[in-house]
Amino acid sequence: MQNLTHYIGGAHAEGRSGRYADVFNPATGEVQSRAPLASREEIDLAVETAQKAQPGWAATNPQRRARVMMEFVRLLNRDMDKLAEALSREHGKTIPDAKGDVQRGLEVVEFCIGAPHLLKGEYTDGAGPGIDMYSMRQPLGVSAGITPFNFPAMIPMWMFAPAIACGNAFILKPSERAPSVPMMLAELMEEAGLPKGILQVVNGDKDAVDAILEHEGIASVGFVGSTPIAEYIYGKGCAHGKRVQCFGGAKNHMIIMPDADMEKAADALVGAGYGAAGERCMAISVAVPVGDETADRLIAALKPRIESLKVGPYTSGDDVDFGPVITAAAKENILKLVQSGVDAGAELVVDGRDFGLQGYENGFFVGAHLFDRVTPDMEIYRKEIFGPVLSTVRAGSYEEALKLAMDHEMGNGTAIFTRDGDAARDFANRVNVGMVGINVPIPVPLAYHSFGGWKKSAFGDLNQHGTDSFKFYTKTKTVTARWPSGIKDGGEFNFKPMD
Ligand code: NAD
Repeated sequence: MQNLTHYIGGAHAEGRSGRYADVFNPATGEVQSRAPLASREEIDLAVETAQKAQPGWAATNPQRRARVMMEFVRLLNRDMDKLAEALSREHGKTIPDAKGDVQRGLEVVEFCIGAPHLLKGEYTDGAGPGIDMYSMRQPLGVSAGITPFNFPAMIPMWMFAPAIACGNAFILKPSERAPSVPMMLAELMEEAGLPKGILQVVNGDKDAVDAILEHEGIASVGFVGSTPIAEYIYGKGCAHGKRVQCFGGAKNHMIIMPDADMEKAADALVGAGYGAAGERCMAISVAVPVGDETADRLIAALKPRIESLKVGPYTSGDDVDFGPVITAAAKENILKLVQSGVDAGAELVVDGRDFGLQGYENGFFVGAHLFDRVTPDMEIYRKEIFGPVLSTVRAGSYEEALKLAMDHEMGNGTAIFTRDGDAARDFANRVNVGMVGINVPIPVPLAYHSFGGWKKSAFGDLNQHGTDSFKFYTKTKTVTARWPSGIKDGGEFNFKPMD
C-alpha cells in the first residue's frame, strides 16, 4: 500500500499524525493508496514555510511571476496524458473528461499570465493642487484553498494560479479522495520556476481545515465543496478575521420551452445530466419542460438516449460516456435517494438500479436514471443527488418554470432552451441564479469572466477567476501624495476638500 505525502517547502513530507484516508480506484473498488491527514502542527509548519518564502515572491516583479505561469502552461500540456490518467484513476471520470478538467484549469493559468496588466492600480493626476492619488494592489500574504473531489485539477488551479500570480504564497488542502493530481500540479509549478514554499499541498480532513481557519498566519481562504461545509467554513473563517469565499452545492434547472429544438435539447440534457456521472456542480439535475406536450416529447427523446449510455471504467476507451461515482457511500446515498423518489410517487422512466458491470462488481458504478412527474416537495427535487439521476418537473407555463428555478434554495447554474429571443432575454434578466445558459446546458464561464453561483450555492462577494480573483487575492492600498511647491509655506491643520 502506497502512502502518499504532503508537499511542504518544495519537498515531499511524510504524514506525522498517524492518521490516513483510503484513496480508492472507484472503477474497481480497491484501495490504491492512503493520503496522510495533517495535524495542526503540520499546518503550522506549512504556514511558517510559506511566510518565509512569500515576501521574496511578492517582491519579484509581476512579469517574472507571469513567466512561471507561461512555463507551467507548457508543462501542463506536456504532461496532459499523465495528469488525466492519474485523475481518472482516483476520480473515475473518463480520460477525455479528465483532460477537460485539466484544460479548464489551464485556461485560468493562461489568464493569470496577464498579471502585470491585471495588477495595475489606478492613478489620478492632480486630485488637488500638487496632489496625486494612486492605488495599488498588494498581495494578502499566505492564502489557503480547500477543494472538492470532483475537479481535482481545475479547482486547485482556479485558486492557486491567481493567488500566486498576485504575489501570495498558497497552501492547498485538496480532497482526501483525489489527492494525487494536486500534488503533481505543485511539482510542475516548481519545475516551471516557482520558488520553494510558495505552493504547498497539505492533505487532510476537518482537523486540517479547522487548523487553517484558526491560523493567524493565513489571510484568506477559498473553498469549493458542498453547501453545509461551505457555510461552516465561511462562518468560521470570517469569525477568525479572514477574507473568505466559499462555493457550495447546486440543483441546476434547465427549462425547455415548447419551441425548443427538441433533438438538440435532449442531446444537451444527456451530456449535462450524466457526464462525469452527474458529479459536477454545473450538471443539470432538473429538466423543466413547459407544457405537457413538450414534456411528452422530451421524455420520448430522452429515454432511448439514456438507455443507450455506456457506463464503464476509464480504461475501456473513449466511447464510455461516464464512469463510477467516487465512493461506495456516494453510490449508496444516490440509490437511497432514487428509492425515495419512487416511494414519493415520481415515475422512474429509466431505472438504473440493477446496473452491474461484469468484471467490475466491486466498482462504484451507478446506472443512469430518469424521473418524470417529480414535484417540488420530493426529496429528490430538494436535495443535490450528485449522481446520474435526472428529475423532470412538468411546468404549466413559462412563469411557473421560472418560479421553480427561482424558488429553489440553490442558485449555481441554469439554462433555457428556446428559439424565442424574448423568452431567453427575460429569463436571463429575471432568474436569481449566478450562471445562465441560453441554448447552452452547462454555462461555465471562460477564464476571463468569473464563476460563481447565488443563494446557497456561494458565500462571499467575489467570484472565482476573471478579474474578481485578482481582487480577492489582493488588497487595495490608496496613496494620497502632495508635493507642494514648498513645505516652507506652512502646515495645514484643517480637514478640508481638495480645492
Ligand atoms: P465536500 O464538502 O465533502 O468536501 C470539500 C472539501 O471540504 C474537501 O477538501 C474535504 O476534505 C473538506 N471537508 C469535508 N468535510 C469537512 C468538514 N466537516 N469540515 C471541514 N472540511 C471538510 O465536497 P465534495 O464531496 O468533495 O464535493 C462535492 C460537492 O462540491 C458538491 O456539493 C458540489 O456541488 C460541490 N461543488 C461546487 C462547485 C462550485 O463551484 N459551486 C464546484 C465543484 C463542486
